[in-house]
Amino acid sequence: MSNCSETPFHDTSLYDPPRSRCPLCGSPDIAPHYVITRFTAHFRVDRCRSCGFIFMNPPFTDAAIKGFYSEDYYRGSAEYAYHDEREAERYAAYVWDSRINVIRRYAEEGNFLDIGSSFGGFLRRAGRYYTTFGIEMSEYSAAYARKEGGLNIHTGTLGDHPYEGNFFSVITMIEVLEHLKDPAPALKECCRLLKKEGVLVLQTANMEGLQARLMKDRYGYYLPGHLSYFSLRNLSDALRHAGFSRVRVYRPVEFGLLPKLKKSRGSFRTLWDYRQWIRISRYHLISKLAAGSFSPTSSMVLYAVK
Ligand SMILES: [Zn+2]
Repeated sequence: MSNCSETPFHDTSLYDPPRSRCPLCGSPDIAPHYVITRFTAHFRVDRCRSCGFIFMNPPFTDAAIKGFYSEDYYRGSAEYAYHDEREAERYAAYVWDSRINVIRRYAEEGNFLDIGSSFGGFLRRAGRYYTTFGIEMSEYSAAYARKEGGLNIHTGTLGDHPYEGNFFSVITMIEVLEHLKDPAPALKECCRLLKKEGVLVLQTANMEGLQARLMKDRYGYYLPGHLSYFSLRNLSDALRHAGFSRVRVYRPVEFGLLPKLKKSRGSFRTLWDYRQWIRISRYHLISKLAAGSFSPTSSMVLYAVK
């Protein structure tokens, strides 16, 4: 498995051929935006002059990306790492339950699919109301979710799953879309999988947010595993194009501040850590100043109804 600490930019085996068109709208009017050099695997992002979509170009190969999601990634010990949710699952459940409460306003029951289901913590909470299914590309975490959680998880992607159309009442993709090389077909596939009036829940960064624009190439969302960078408008348009009839946006998220504060305690070790509540609260409240296309921060969650 490749390791991103040994991957210089000039190692062409890491990259697919460059794209000549915007992967979202198909326009050939694209231009280099930033080169991100703070990781040992350097990459460039381009911006579409037609729709504003930002995307990695050339993108890493699937094999290189797989290397970023090794066991180390999930254990939180890789250079580019994911927080191990198992350590703080009790705390994460505050956020999961709050999210499920909002989802139930859209669909009270039925089949529920979480794409990027990781260790299955969120699905286990959803299982109190729904029949749950997961898609997860890491065999390491999928196997854990099957064994420890008794969950029905397909190891793979939206391109090779066994599910039929018009089957799900709810599909969630929480911080997944930015990892996809071709997000538009994925959104279409989600629409096909949903029943009429079913809901797709998406969380990804809004690159038109002031936070992202001010920080430019230093913005923390530019990561080797992130291939697609949306604006709110990009994502709303892509959802309508994929066949969804209505879209609602929540900024920063669809639930309140309290579950976030409770969740954050999962990583606190001393009383002094509680000072982080000031930062979390400030971020949440500033995010609330969003209006129309203006977003002070980059957090957004979209609910798209078929
Ligand atoms: Zn475009």
